[in-house]
Amino acid sequence: MKGYRNRVLRVDLTARSFSEESLDPTLIHDFVGGGGFGAKLLYDELPPGVDPLGEDSALVFVAGPLAGTSAQSFGRWKVFFKSPLTGGFFKSSGGGFFASELKFAGFDAIIVKGKADRPVYLWVHDGSYEFRDASYLWGLDCDDTHTLIREDLHDPKVRLACIGPAGELGVKYAGIFSDRRTAGRGGGGTVMGSKNLKAIALRGKEKIPLAEPERFREAVREQVRRYRNDPNFERFSLRGTQNAEFTNVLGIFPTRNFREGVLPGYENIDSSAFDKIRVRNTACHNCMLHCGSLTKINKGNYRGSWSEGPEYETIWAFTGPLLCSDIGLTVVADKMCDDLGLDTISTGDAIGFAYELYEKGILTKEDTGGLELTYGNDAPVLTLIKQIAYRQGIGELLAEGTREASQRIGKGSDQYAMHVKGLDIPAYDPRGAKAHGLSMMTASLGADHGYGYAGQEIFGVPYKGKSIDRFAIEGKGELTKWNQDNRAIWNLGIMCAFASRYFDHELFGRLLCSATGHREFLDPEFLLLVGERVINLERMFNCREGFDRKDDVYPSRFLEDPLPEGPSKGQVFEADVLLEDYYRVRGWDPETGIPTKEKLAELGLEYTLEPGK
Ligand code: SF4
Repeated sequence: MKGYRNRVLRVDLTARSFSEESLDPTLIHDFVGGGGFGAKLLYDELPPGVDPLGEDSALVFVAGPLAGTSAQSFGRWKVFFKSPLTGGFFKSSGGGFFASELKFAGFDAIIVKGKADRPVYLWVHDGSYEFRDASYLWGLDCDDTHTLIREDLHDPKVRLACIGPAGELGVKYAGIFSDRRTAGRGGGGTVMGSKNLKAIALRGKEKIPLAEPERFREAVREQVRRYRNDPNFERFSLRGTQNAEFTNVLGIFPTRNFREGVLPGYENIDSSAFDKIRVRNTACHNCMLHCGSLTKINKGNYRGSWSEGPEYETIWAFTGPLLCSDIGLTVVADKMCDDLGLDTISTGDAIGFAYELYEKGILTKEDTGGLELTYGNDAPVLTLIKQIAYRQGIGELLAEGTREASQRIGKGSDQYAMHVKGLDIPAYDPRGAKAHGLSMMTASLGADHGYGYAGQEIFGVPYKGKSIDRFAIEGKGELTKWNQDNRAIWNLGIMCAFASRYFDHELFGRLLCSATGHREFLDPEFLLLVGERVINLERMFNCREGFDRKDDVYPSRFLEDPLPEGPSKGQVFEADVLLEDYYRVRGWDPETGIPTKEKLAELGLEYTLEPGK
């Protein structure tokens, strides 16, 4: 088999056993790879109603069919699990070198189930595998874990996916970390911690065989030409997403827990501010975009601090929610979250939530242990991050995520918990970008900005040759479906979201086909069908868990309170109209939001309606 390794490693931590499976040809035909494989494997693996942190829960790590090849920007990996934060389907994506190393080590995917009786890590190398004791690593941060495992294995080139203290202690939004690249969202690190699994370490030397090497090389040459000819290539390669101004100028940079959309003093954290503290760029495996940045603070309170990052979402997480704009804090907070193993978006949301409750008098100085959570005061932020990671003080509550924390606090605090399906909302105010907002509201993951990113509204990318009015509601159901299905297509190869602007389905299909030899991948209609199938399977995973239309909902703030100022002033989110349009275009029942029998039959997903399936 070409492109793929044709090996899935199955790990039972309870029984301390391994087994191997080859790829089912039906899985390849129906789901192609990457995000398709992960969705199907997780759907099949988990019984309905399983406790996300119980022994029967699973983690599915997947590399795409193009990972480890010379194709650019396919070095990302995904991990699939039932989220402890949302109780639903989840996939989280990380960069670095882990995906390629998984392929070099001989596997397309690793499925982990059970629970080890003491901390372990997995050592997977050149087709072999073993458990190794991780007791001495338990409690260590992600940086030290990388260092010590590499020392233990006498190989500085070992690639890792690991958790920090937050994952070990069950913080609901703990991430999984690999060389300072993070699969941050949804609590994958929490699931890993619940299994006493500290890390997966990989090393391999096997090259990826290609079906048609010369055609593949030509497709890669075309890809490189497209990168080089793009007028934004140099700018993005230098700055990545370190440009907070792009949403601020639209008036959708969420400020003071999503009350406003413009941050005063944003020029302190804009792209030119980051230009001054960038030391050098960094990249994932085989990515000439090298969008990552190593940054170092040279003056002010945080002088001498450094981080790999922060990227856009993290810059927002430690500024907008608290009404601050200290670039130094964004760098320190980013590093601290990476070390302790926290998702920066949910951490920032939890802190912003606490600030608003403090302002409203729902949380007092007694509750916060003396911390003064007043807007503009960023002094408590690092203490709060540490308290969340170690579940100390007010951090014990905030570690649950804003939805669960609000349920425990009561006193009407739920109206200030900014989440969808339990997933805290990222750095886009949906009121000023309706298709982007609609995607975050309907995504199976909860409020995920990458599920169907509306570049047409945020960056003015044309749709069917026309520009899109970001405030309009007409046609946003169709646009959202297109963006979500299209993203699901790129995910079949686990293509980096930032690279998708250089692709069309024809070039993507050519890369997939020449790597794997599957000619149907050349057909854009085939890819569109698979993308839609994946979205509907993820939806049916959630329906099996009891999700329906009631879960496609935003906090009332977006529906009732117009944005008070800035370029999106006066906008609210017209949830009902947008949702009805979206369900109609999707072929989902308008009352329940569940895919109809006819739609499931069209996509070959009838089995999801069978009892127990
Ligand atoms: S664009 Fe950035 S995040 Fe994406 S693969 Fe390249 S280096 Fe990694």
